[in-house]
Amino acid sequence: MIRTACPHDCPSACVLEVERLSPARIGRVRGSASYDYTAGTCCAKVARYAERVHHPGRLAQPLARLGAKGEGRFAPIAWGEALDRIAAAFRAAAARHGPEAVWPYHSGGTLGVLSRWGIDRLRHVMGYSRQKSTICVTPAESGWKAGIGAARGSDPRRLAEADLILMWGGNPVATQVNLMSHIQAARKRRGAKLVVIDAYRSPSVEAADLGLVLRPGTDAALALALMAAALEAGVADRDFLARHTDWSPEVEAHLRRHSIPWAAEVTGLAVAEIEALARLYVGTPRLFLRAGVGFSRHRNGAATMHAVSCLAALTGAWAREGGGAFFYALEGWGLDTRLAWASDRIDPRVRVLDQSRIGAVLNGEPAALMGGPPVTAMLIQNANSAEVAPDSHAVRRGLAREDLFLAVHEQFLTPTAAFADIVLPATTFLEQDDIMMGLGHTALTVAPRVIAPQAEARSNHAVVQGLAARLGAEHPGFGMSDVEILDATLRASGHGGWAAAVEAGFLPVAVDIPSGTDFAGFPQPDGRFRFQPDWAALGPYGAEMPRLPSYWQKLEWAGPETPFRLITPPARSFLNTSFTETPGSRKREGAPRLRVNPRDAARLGIADGGRVRIGNARGALTMAAMLFEGVLEGVLALEGIAPSDAFPEGIGVNSLVGADPVAPAGGVAFHDIAVWLRPAE
Ligand code: SF4
Repeated sequence: MIRTACPHDCPSACVLEVERLSPARIGRVRGSASYDYTAGTCCAKVARYAERVHHPGRLAQPLARLGAKGEGRFAPIAWGEALDRIAAAFRAAAARHGPEAVWPYHSGGTLGVLSRWGIDRLRHVMGYSRQKSTICVTPAESGWKAGIGAARGSDPRRLAEADLILMWGGNPVATQVNLMSHIQAARKRRGAKLVVIDAYRSPSVEAADLGLVLRPGTDAALALALMAAALEAGVADRDFLARHTDWSPEVEAHLRRHSIPWAAEVTGLAVAEIEALARLYVGTPRLFLRAGVGFSRHRNGAATMHAVSCLAALTGAWAREGGGAFFYALEGWGLDTRLAWASDRIDPRVRVLDQSRIGAVLNGEPAALMGGPPVTAMLIQNANSAEVAPDSHAVRRGLAREDLFLAVHEQFLTPTAAFADIVLPATTFLEQDDIMMGLGHTALTVAPRVIAPQAEARSNHAVVQGLAARLGAEHPGFGMSDVEILDATLRASGHGGWAAAVEAGFLPVAVDIPSGTDFAGFPQPDGRFRFQPDWAALGPYGAEMPRLPSYWQKLEWAGPETPFRLITPPARSFLNTSFTETPGSRKREGAPRLRVNPRDAARLGIADGGRVRIGNARGALTMAAMLFEGVLEGVLALEGIAPSDAFPEGIGVNSLVGADPVAPAGGVAFHDIAVWLRPAE
């Protein structure tokens, strides 16, 4: 067994043990017990990784487009010619409109220091358009930072000592199995209670001691009523509030105005359900708040995350043993990224395009282009924007532009790759060396290569180096192998070298906010949590946000035309669109099924398993209905992301999602979708 680490778009970044059957073939994959967060567990989809890495559909050699854009007809070409053509297209685009016409684009298909962000080395040195990565966590991150001050939290392993674990808006049973094993240990050892709050009855809601299903986007109303109950019960920690927050009589008077019956009306929860949760919150000082990101993917998502984060501050949970709060560790890794990302060559004058607004950028909307030139050449790595980015019809119109040169470096011929002029075959994590940041915990996990690259696949690093050589890009990082850069990066960051990191398997990094008796304040300039955030300072859309913790009614309101609210939580066997190509995951997920409350179904004449259509001004989709008591009336849930070819329209659910940026700093309201629902003709 060879030890490595998972690169997929999941906060666990598991340390893995992979059976190497030959220099080019793997067998079993399992979580490693050598790191106590992974704790010997990994998800089923990665445990079956042999079917992905050895999949007959893996891209084997570079391809050049023959057919129309999006048609998916290609002819093989040699690597040298493919890179020459990309470099020539980048040179031509830069000569005509300036270097900002070239937009290297990446997303979270792989999260390695080199395999995700190494493309930035080329971007920064060449002066190509920069990228603001907003598609995943920006609303959650903004809301968390608003109060706490940084996208960090307590070490999540502390929840082993908690008495109440409040899992707000996440589904660890399906998406973070390691977290669930820590939660189960706390329940078993200490009798800790698990509360899960979500907008549909997920497997985690079912596994909880108290599971609450509310209307999408109304979570802040519940948090406000809980805080009012705590104030009423006299359990607000006055000493903590005075020493570590900006608490004021105005904040207190505001919070006290939110009653449980009001919250029941807004959220769709029963009064008795909120009272049950309030009893737990009020009666349990050792609270560990584990916030997920799903509930933040609404137009009011950042304000909602802030309101939820106030819960741990109000009762002083941060300063209690076993208490604290965590969302993601996005900051404070202390990595010296000058070699890997050429972060020493960032030119602040170069525009920063919003990753989530790729449709608007490629369709030439002046605001999305920030007044600069059109984007006429792209290299996409780790991203399947034709299915994953919002407003997919607009994205596809942009990708289909005849004057756009598109290169896509991928493991499979995704719908995005089908639009490419040049497709490059990519290695998987098992075929390259890298380091992962464990965003759901506090360690770097180390991912050395396990097997040789399959067929002609090359790593992201190799592609960046190959293009840099052709484009005359000059930076010390371009002359180095992947291991040389990783070794130098670790040494410059004070983490020893690559060989020692491989030997250890993971490197603990102090990215947490010390809590319990070690609590010494929040990472705000004055050390104080903000009940009254300065939203305008957090992003360009912050000025309109409420000053105090609030249920901000800025949602895509369901009206007479589109009376249903649709959410798209992650399916257990897919990870965005990764794993939608593997037969095991496809078989487990089956065809897309829209969860519909039985009373809505009866009213509309929809039978269990019957064909239905949902839609709004952006598009429409057809699928089977599944009658499900686990969504409230007026709410629909479609687990995903099911691949486009699972729908007769040939496009997936993100075609219904708006790409308007979420306040204060951007991001996508993936679960804030107003739609109509009808039986399919
Ligand atoms: S749980 Fe997440 S990090 Fe762990 S193996 Fe699965 S996808 Fe990878």
